[in-house]
Amino acid sequence: MRVLVVEDERGLAAAIARGLTEEGFTVSVAHDGADGLWSARHEPYDVIVLDIMLPRLSGYEVVRRLRARSVWTPVLMLTAKDGEYDEADALDLGADDYLSKPFSYVVLVARLRALLRRGAPARPAVLAAGDLTLDPARRRCERAGQEISLTAREFMLLEFLLRRPDEVVSKTDILTHVWDENFDGDTNIVEVYIGYLRRKIDAPFRRHIIETVRGAGYRLLGTGG
Ligand code: CA
Repeated sequence: MRVLVVEDERGLAAAIARGLTEEGFTVSVAHDGADGLWSARHEPYDVIVLDIMLPRLSGYEVVRRLRARSVWTPVLMLTAKDGEYDEADALDLGADDYLSKPFSYVVLVARLRALLRRGAPARPAVLAAGDLTLDPARRRCERAGQEISLTAREFMLLEFLLRRPDEVVSKTDILTHVWDENFDGDTNIVEVYIGYLRRKIDAPFRRHIIETVRGAGYRLLGTGG
């Protein structure tokens, strides 16, 4: 079983890694949120131990971004009672379990084993608007029963809009969630990609599902246009 430990207190991270290795886990360690997010997205871990207060990207942001990108690896969050977030927040944010610092090592191993037995949480249902469907788990998009091939970025953009039906979303929201909050290129990239999506999901079907809301952003019609 592969475990990713994201913890900036190096002594604690090393102790957790050593202990889990002795229990038979294969352990990788990341010391900040950005590295942790990268590893969690690119390596097949069975479970993630994630501290909340981390440099570069909080554990809160790491789990939110993982779930937004359909990475469902179980996450056990390490919370501090006096921290910015508490246990209830951890679960709301998409973590599967939490443990308050300081914790007993035996309890940590027991909780990880329980998470592994439970397996990855249920995948989200297929998203739909009218005759358009998007299946995040299978990476498939269809309209009127016809499969539509999307690039990874187009897929993320459409998923983002489908999760907010009938809401006006700004270009900034889209950039932050579909690109990166540190994106410093031309914001017209959003318009360009909305154009690509429309050509694939709207134009061939003559019904427009993505509306431009002048001066505000875009709105995906939950009824499918
Ligand atoms: Ca920390």
